[in-house]
Order: sequence, then structure tokens, then C-alpha cells
Amino acid sequence: MAGPEVPPLAWLAAPVLLGLIPALIAHSKGRSFANWWLYGAVLLPIALAHALRLQAFYCPQCSSPVPADTLTCEICGLHFVPKAQPVKRPPWEKPPA
Ligand SMILES: [Zn+2]
Repeated sequence: MAGPEVPPLAWLAAPVLLGLIPALIAHSKGRSFANWWLYGAVLLPIALAHALRLQAFYCPQCSSPVPADTLTCEICGLHFVPKAQPVKRPPWEKPPA
């Protein structure tokens, strides 16, 4: 098979550059850019499909994307209260005013 020889560097540069695509998508949804870049460089088709299916969560205060498993917004510092977390207190204690 004759043809223009592909410089070895291109074989390294292609996945690194293509890995940016899922990394940018995942980052826009609050995920780690570095982790997703690595993921995309190693397993591009899977990482890309995965990144597109990620659910985005947004901070109710500053509307920036936040990771699903975080409890504090990195941008504005808002502390998220997990859903369905009733405040338990003994019946003899009066509720705070
Ligand atoms: Zn925020």
C-alpha cells in the first residue's frame, strides 16, 4: 500500500484533538474537562456518546452547570440541599423561629 506516509506524531495528535470534543460537551454539563479529555482520547466513540447523554444540572442561583454529585456550586458557592431530606427533630423540641 503506497501513499503519503503519516508522521507518527499525527497518530498521537489525532486522539488528543478529537478527545477535546467529548471533553467540551461534558465540561458544558459540569463534568471534569481533564477526565473527559482523557476518556475521549482513549475511547472516542464511547466517550462522545456518553457525553451527549449526560444530564446537565444547573445551579439555581447562578445558572452555571454543576456536577450531579456535588453539593456546592463552584462558581457562586451556593450549597445545594439534597432533595427529600426532611429535617428530623424530636417532638418535644420546638421548630426554629
Ligand atoms: Zn452557583
